[in-house]
Order: sequence, then structure tokens, then C-alpha cells
Amino acid sequence: MKWISMVALVCLVSCLRAEAEDFLVGTAQADITAPRGFRMSGYFSERFNTGVRDSLKAKALVLSQGKVKAALVFCDLIGIGPGLSRAARTRIAEKAGIPFENVSIAATHSHTGPLYFGALREHFHRAAVASNGRDPHEGVDYSAWAAEKIAEAVVRAAGAAVPVKVRHGVASEKRLSFNRRFHMKTGGVRFNPGQLNPSILRTAGPIDPDVGIVEFLSRGGVPRASLTVFALHLDTVGGTEYSADYPRYLSDELRAVFGKEYVSFFGAGACGDLNHIDVTVKGRRSAGEIGKLLAETVRGGISKLGAVKQPSLAVRRAEVEVPLQRYSKEEVEKARKEMELVGSNKLPFLQRVKAYKIMALQLRKADTIALEVQAFRLSSELAIVTLPGEVFVELGLAIKKASPFRNTLVIELVNDAPGYIPTRKAFTEGSYETVNSRVQSGGGEAMVETAIGLLKDLARAR
Ligand SMILES: [Zn+2]
Repeated sequence: MKWISMVALVCLVSCLRAEAEDFLVGTAQADITAPRGFRMSGYFSERFNTGVRDSLKAKALVLSQGKVKAALVFCDLIGIGPGLSRAARTRIAEKAGIPFENVSIAATHSHTGPLYFGALREHFHRAAVASNGRDPHEGVDYSAWAAEKIAEAVVRAAGAAVPVKVRHGVASEKRLSFNRRFHMKTGGVRFNPGQLNPSILRTAGPIDPDVGIVEFLSRGGVPRASLTVFALHLDTVGGTEYSADYPRYLSDELRAVFGKEYVSFFGAGACGDLNHIDVTVKGRRSAGEIGKLLAETVRGGISKLGAVKQPSLAVRRAEVEVPLQRYSKEEVEKARKEMELVGSNKLPFLQRVKAYKIMALQLRKADTIALEVQAFRLSSELAIVTLPGEVFVELGLAIKKASPFRNTLVIELVNDAPGYIPTRKAFTEGSYETVNSRVQSGGGEAMVETAIGLLKDLARAR
């Protein structure tokens, strides 16, 4: 009898404690627009910025419950260089007390931001220094500057954290994304074969129509912020003005409904092989059209979200060491010479991509790469997985399918940008994404296994 009442007492105490551990969310933003004239990312030719269409932002989302603290930051950048993520996470741990392991720095994959890291930047930067004595297009050390801005935003978000209600769900959007790899009548698989190309036989892979939504509301039920995760390449603007691409219009639409203080976070789903080009028609949708259609779907989705009754924040992280592709000394020398022509049309496109990839591998200075996977549990039904690189949609779908959570959001291009992460199947088919990948075949599947392991661990954990 005494023993039973002891059990009851322990339960009562722990239940009360669980009740007392509010789920807190804080948000803040930093302007990370690079200086005018900076070199632009996105393509293989050298382009310089000529102005600002949208300011580039780093949006910080801080989650905390009891002793567990985590931060996800979404940056309007093409990718997060390993130097930037290391510096930002180190500063965040120092200044906001959020462990390095619990911080994800994500890129939305905007193709209209600064080119600040990687083999292409290295090549153009060195050439500029060689001819001018300095690089007139890099007035600042963008990585160091942006890391500081990101850390400041996280500190502000942590300071602004308040108890919230959380709702979540999945909407479906089948109008906007297309698998960009196709089996051709002429044999083989080609990426972006062109609209109305009569040689197209069929697509080589699926899309992911899921629009994962997490909404944060005040205790009184006022919508404050939402995270949308959708798998569609952000390359819908082009040109030489900075732009956040279509998520800017998603944000505009949601803020028009929920107010100016509302924060729309956007995470790129696994979309390495997906884009907005419908090969069965002639034209393409603009960033504004895509953002508005996506907002329509998100708003419809928001009206049907389910409430998180018992938040239970926990974070897991693992690194999976996978082999990098290897090239002989002769191949590296050839690539070094071909890099001189990388920004021109004097070499076939895939040859330029291969030269760039081989030089990018030289920057890694190792035979393997540690792919870092993080998993955030918000409740027994809701989890977020973050992955490095441009991940093929099939890999993201595999994680969701095997996840023990009812709603799993998979976000790519987090903390590092080691090029494309294709499937084993794609490696046998070839084309652009596999040429522009650094991992060997099987690296993507190993990353998926790691992610599923973390999710299963989180589902079991208290
Ligand atoms: Zn891309």
C-alpha cells in the first residue's frame, strides 16, 4: 500500500513538473544582405550584384522547454559554408547558451545571394587578387560578418522566448514542383532537357507534394509565426539583384493575413532533383506566382492544423562518415587548368561542372566527409530532421516513410553544402547532379539510415 502511494506520489510530482515545463518559442531576424557589388552565387559564370530586390534575412527560431534549448536559423543564401556554420554555432553557444549540437543553420537555397564560399568563389577571388592586388568585389569577410549577425539574431530570439501553443499538419501542393530528371528517347537520363523537348520519354523520379507546417501561437491563440517546409528549388528569380526568391512572397501573403509582426520561416525540403519547370508547357511561373500559390496552400493547411497537446522538446545529432569521390593527380591537374574556363562557354557545361567539383573536393582535404544529421522532437507526433547538402527527393521521402512520427519535416542544406546528395539509382543514371556531387554512391542512403536511427531514438526517449 505504502509502495503504491509512493508510485502515485512520484507520478504526481513528475506530472506536475512536466506541466510546469512550458514550451517556449522566440523569433528574431537579422539583415544579412551582402554589400552592393559583391559576387553573386547561383551559376557558373561570374556575376556582380547590382542592387537589392529583397533584403536577405537570417530568421532565427529558438525553442526551449525545461533544460532543452535549440535553435534553427533560416538564411536567404544558396548554401551554408562550413566556416559560417561553425562560427555562428560557436558564437550562439557562447552568447545564447544553446549547445552547438542543438543549432541548425539552414540555407533556403536562394540563387540570388552572395557567392562567399567554395571552389568557385575561391577561383574568382584569386583571379581578382592576382590582377588587382585585392578583390574589389569582397569588401567584407562575409562569412565572419554573417556569423555574427546570425548569432545576434539567435540571442535576441532567445531573449524574446515566451510560452506558446503549437499546431502542426501537412498540406498538399501538386502544382508547383517537378522532377527535373528525365529518361530520354535518345537513351540515358538528362536533367532539365528543355520545355516541350520531343525526346523526353518520362520523368526519372517523383516529387514530394507535402507542405509541412508548424504554427506557433500566443497563449491566447494569436498566430505569431509558422514554419513551412516544401521541396522546390529556389531558382526562380535570376538576375543580379539580391532576392530571397519565392519564400519572400509566401511571407508577404501570410503577413498580410496575420499582421506585420508575423514571422514566416521557410525550410527547403529535400529538392536536389526538383524545380519549377514544367516541361509539358512553354512558360514558367514567376517567384511571385509560386509564392502566392504556396501561400494559398499554406493558409488552407493552417485552417486544418492539429494542436500539439503535450510538447516534449528533445534533440539528437549524429555524424555519418561517408567516402568522398577520388581523383588522380593527373585529373586534379586537368581540372585546375579547366577552372580557368569555368566561367566561360569554351568548355561543355558538364566538363566545367566536373572541374569545379574536383576543385571543391580539394578544399575538403580528406577522403571522407562527416555528414551531420540533427533531429528535433517537438512532440510524440512531430519531428524536424535537418541534413547537409542538396538532397534528392527520394531520400527525404524515405526518411518520412520510415519515421515513427506522424509528421516529420525534412530540411536540407543545413550546416554544410557538400553539393548534391543523389541516390544510388541516380549515380547509375548520371547527369548534372551526380557530376556536381562530392560523396560517393551510397552516401545519401547512409545519411537516411542515420536520420531514421535518430528519429527512432527520439520516439523511444522520454
Ligand atoms: Zn541547387
